[in-house]
Amino acid sequence: MSASCAAESDDGGDEAIAESADEIRGSFPVGTKLQTTAMLNQRSSPSPSARVLQVIPDGTIVASASATPRAGWYGVTWNGKTGWVDGMYLSKPSSAGGSGDAGAVLSLHGSGAIQLWDQTFGRRDGADPLSNIRDAAAGRSAKTSCYGGAPCNRVQLSSRLVSGMAKLRQQYGYKYFVTAIAGASHSAGSYHYAGRAFDIDQINGVKVNGNTALARAFMSACSALGAIEVLGPSNRSDHQDHIHCAW
Ligand SMILES: [Zn+2]
Repeated sequence: MSASCAAESDDGGDEAIAESADEIRGSFPVGTKLQTTAMLNQRSSPSPSARVLQVIPDGTIVASASATPRAGWYGVTWNGKTGWVDGMYLSKPSSAGGSGDAGAVLSLHGSGAIQLWDQTFGRRDGADPLSNIRDAAAGRSAKTSCYGGAPCNRVQLSSRLVSGMAKLRQQYGYKYFVTAIAGASHSAGSYHYAGRAFDIDQINGVKVNGNTALARAFMSACSALGAIEVLGPSNRSDHQDHIHCAW
């Protein structure tokens, strides 16, 4: 069972691809958290011709490193490096999506960094990943499905789960496709039914298919983010085409 999904690819890392509706302006105290709204270059000085220090993924949380912008460029620190990025592609974290980490995940979905399926394996039951995160971002409980032994109720999504989903992008840079959170049919007593698990079947545009280094790295990232149950190709014969992380 797989989520059909046109995997759009990030295309090279220049600063020409994002909307700037949430563009920031003015000064921020050093240490203020800001979020990238595109994959963008961090440069050695505030100029589009300056040397590129590193490419920062879309949706990444960075820290302001300079109190005053220079000609629209902001000094930021990320991944151990401090340099300059075009402020047109920075926003205040979670500004677009709603409250908290669910709002951040929804914003990341909006930019294509996290892909939340809008159906439950062919069903339109309001228990799909996109509906679950929309509900959570609006402060509502999330629906479970009503087929195949699923409980057909509503649950509060675990804040640790949602935080983990955001950080898989913001800290680890993964682009991934979510096939189920609270919805769909799972084994009895599944963490999904408690709003504590998600399943993914694509990482960085590549289908999960067997025990690859990429699948193992994603699973390790879930564990490092505190997941208490991580199932995938490397440890479960029935998880060769998807990865399950639960908090
Ligand atoms: Zn699962």
